[in-house]
Amino acid sequence: MKYQSTRSAESVSAREAVLAGIARDGGLYVDPELGSKKIDLKEILSISTIDMAKKILSVLLPDFENMDALVEKAYRGRFETDDLTPLVKMGDEYILELFRGPTSAFKDVALSMLPQLETGARTQLGIEDRILILTATSGDTGKAALEGFHDVPGIDIMVFYPHEGVSDVQKAQMATQEGSNVRVCAVRGNFDDCQRGVKNAFAHLTEPLRKRGIILSSANSINIGRLAPQVVYYFAAYRDLVNEGRIKPGDPVNYVVPTGNFGDILAGFYAKLLGLPVGRLVCASNVNNVLTDFICTGVYDKRRPFYKTESPSMDILVSSNLERLLFIASGRKTEKVRRWMEDLNTSGRFEVDPDTLAYIQKTFSSWYCTKEETEAEIGRCWNNFHYLVDPHTAVATSVAEKFKEGIAAVSEILRGDDRDDVFKPVEEDDLAENSENKTEEGIEDAPVVVLSTASPYKFPTAILKALGEKPDEDEFEQMNQIYSITSVPIPKNLAELKGKPEIHKDVIEIGEIEDYILKNAVG
Ligand SMILES: *Cc1c(COP(=O)(O)O)cnc(C)c1O
Repeated sequence: MKYQSTRSAESVSAREAVLAGIARDGGLYVDPELGSKKIDLKEILSISTIDMAKKILSVLLPDFENMDALVEKAYRGRFETDDLTPLVKMGDEYILELFRGPTSAFKDVALSMLPQLETGARTQLGIEDRILILTATSGDTGKAALEGFHDVPGIDIMVFYPHEGVSDVQKAQMATQEGSNVRVCAVRGNFDDCQRGVKNAFAHLTEPLRKRGIILSSANSINIGRLAPQVVYYFAAYRDLVNEGRIKPGDPVNYVVPTGNFGDILAGFYAKLLGLPVGRLVCASNVNNVLTDFICTGVYDKRRPFYKTESPSMDILVSSNLERLLFIASGRKTEKVRRWMEDLNTSGRFEVDPDTLAYIQKTFSSWYCTKEETEAEIGRCWNNFHYLVDPHTAVATSVAEKFKEGIAAVSEILRGDDRDDVFKPVEEDDLAENSENKTEEGIEDAPVVVLSTASPYKFPTAILKALGEKPDEDEFEQMNQIYSITSVPIPKNLAELKGKPEIHKDVIEIGEIEDYILKNAVG
């Protein structure tokens, strides 16, 4: 089985795709046959989440040997519970808690597995060079990657974060990271400076480091090894709804996903292609609502103001994983995808053809949530249901409400005066006929699962404001404030941070990133 680029016929094995991260032509690696292989629903719904991961990852990444062992190593005993991603009820909807991993971030699900896939690919392909993972982070990804990669044999990791640009808790999470193969370095600049520095390092240092026996790689969310593990929790949530008696196998379920880089929600689409009866996938955005506009109109236009919000992991104007959806929705036309990506690069905008848009709208809906609505939503969830959502999850629960009212349904979106010209509502018959899963009937009554992507304790200032409290200046004290009001337990990994010795104290200038890598890389 081969993975191919979204932009050309360039193809590699799944193991090579995981090691490379991105295709040489700049495209993303995709399985061109995804959609023809189905997972046996009956069989998978009767097994544990960790066993589901073994099955699903073996289907998505078939050339890996010993997948069962890799999955066991990634997950067993590392999450708060062995079902990894518990499903809880809030009012008449369901919250899929993706933040029960070692750093209380949803990225743990993928970044626990990716290191095992990288080291598996390295050994199985007989590569003797060491792999060096370079990561620029605005906060969450860095810690989740450190936690996943520390002490993994054959691999080193370096994380660069903006010196004044992360929260105290995030800084403490990274600076206290143990492990013989990790480096954490603050950069006097913002996140973009870090990201550019790391990108340039890939361009300039790949060859010189290769001569020293070091292969550069990335833990970025475009790596197929990060996407594949996320497919699992869509099945796990579905299983839990069946076990609870809320649905029968085959019934549709709608998922609402707080979206940034489009990886999380795309995994839901992959689950659908594998045969899970996914109803609608609702893409929830904050005010950086470039994806809402795209899903409603087919026009992707990043030329717009950028807003900093309380849901920073969704403050994104270029959602890289969308490219994988475009590949499938266009009928796997690499030329089209390449042209759209070129348009985006050169003019900041692209527009898909009507067939591609219709394909996307058959499954995807989207709406967005303002800063004020997000804050009010945190309060509403607490006051009505005694459930504490983080600001990213609040965006999604708020959009879920709108979805249920029909506002986020593609055919009912009100945007501007010319909506009738822009929107050709997809007919119900058409939906049923073309549906991959024949699940369109009864979608309105289908249960709604909201994906929850962070512990509220990772964003304590926003939580306290939303609860009408005055936040203490110290973020650790803020956690105690939240606990004393809500009695929601503080995740152990966060509670233990205070007082842990700071191991990493390096601070460098923007221009020093490449030197730092050259000096500290081990061959
Ligand atoms: C990364 C992240 C998201 C966005 O997920 P994507 O896969 O990039 O769409 C949402 N919420 C939180 C807390 C995140 O860390």
